[in-house]
Amino acid sequence: MAYLDLRGLEKRYDATVAVAHMDACIEEGTLVALLGPSGCGKTTTLRMVAGFVTPTAGEIHLDGARIDRLPPYRRNIGFVFQNYALFPHLTVAENVAFGLRMRRLGRPDRDRRVGEALALVGLAALADRYPTRQLSGGQQQRVALARALVIEPDMLLLDEPLSNLDAGLRSEMRDEIRRLQQRLGITTLFVTHDQQEALAMADRVMVMSHGRLIEDSDPRTLSEHPRHVFSAGFLGARSVLPGSVRNARFEAMGGLSVALGPEDPPDPSHLVLRAARLQLADDGDVPSSARFRARVTVRMVTYLGDVAQVDVTPGGGISIRVLRPTTLPDPAPGTELTLWADDNAVAFLKETGAEPRHGPDPTSPEQGHQPA
Ligand code: ADP
Ligand code: MG
Repeated sequence: MAYLDLRGLEKRYDATVAVAHMDACIEEGTLVALLGPSGCGKTTTLRMVAGFVTPTAGEIHLDGARIDRLPPYRRNIGFVFQNYALFPHLTVAENVAFGLRMRRLGRPDRDRRVGEALALVGLAALADRYPTRQLSGGQQQRVALARALVIEPDMLLLDEPLSNLDAGLRSEMRDEIRRLQQRLGITTLFVTHDQQEALAMADRVMVMSHGRLIEDSDPRTLSEHPRHVFSAGFLGARSVLPGSVRNARFEAMGGLSVALGPEDPPDPSHLVLRAARLQLADDGDVPSSARFRARVTVRMVTYLGDVAQVDVTPGGGISIRVLRPTTLPDPAPGTELTLWADDNAVAFLKETGAEPRHGPDPTSPEQGHQPA
């Protein structure tokens, strides 16, 4: 097992900065999620660690030894590609054995280790099938995982491993990958654009935006106290409202006003409201302990099964999202209600300028994105 250290890691493609000066440490035995929107540089980061992409600048250290000049097969890192990249003309067992052949392992050892890896992912019975024609998406995913693990890697890299699976399978594989990772104690870097996946699986979540690492927290801290406006927005289920401070109150756009307390940052630029912790009531029903109250108009109600998403506006074109159980009756669009919340629904942020909002946009289509 090993720890990974990225020092000033950078990748440029002409004018495009895919990854900008990234410093990060991934501790031994932990699962770290690299979270961010499409095009923010996640795959490029992962491929530099694996050795498929040469960094423009910076260093990669695995267990204290510099590895960024080594070819991929000498790094002893397991990689699960986003599309699995299985060989269609090889059986499941042959796919898994591939890395061992490359490492010139003899037949008896190879067979034993392939058997163990397939047992690990619950595929022992399917060793002789052809993966792309004769296996489901979930089973192909397991083959890719077995192929990455069979080399007994120092580290495991997973590029959006669940994105091709349907919802049920996704949560099943999510739990299974996490269990396997913990059982093997293998240091893992996991790329995803799905915030829920990151929060559910990871020991730490690193948020990327426009090639930069902007936040590195454990899931609960990230979710309760995101430090950047970008992270708060990207986590979803929150409304992020800009505004300014007047007379010890935060006056958000749209007219929402919240008194600032000693716990709050001195000069916040944004108010963050957590959708699932907001309440809608008739004005008389708001407790005096409420952190704020505001008259709002219901815009739209969307039924999501267990919860309903109620979009309301305090005015000024501002929209605030409320999630509430569908056991409550849906308010009709146009209804005026009072939006209120306890302290735990409310957070303030100071825009730090860490996000390169005005810089060149590495995700712009004219840069010629090759989907990975
Ligand atoms: P993600 O995995 O987060 O979606 P990528 O790492 O694939 O993002 O891409 C980051 C940026 O680098 C994108 O703007 C993409 O267009 C660019 N990029 C990636 N690979 C190449 C390449 N081979 N040539 C030119 N630009 C690339
Ligand atoms: Mg990618």
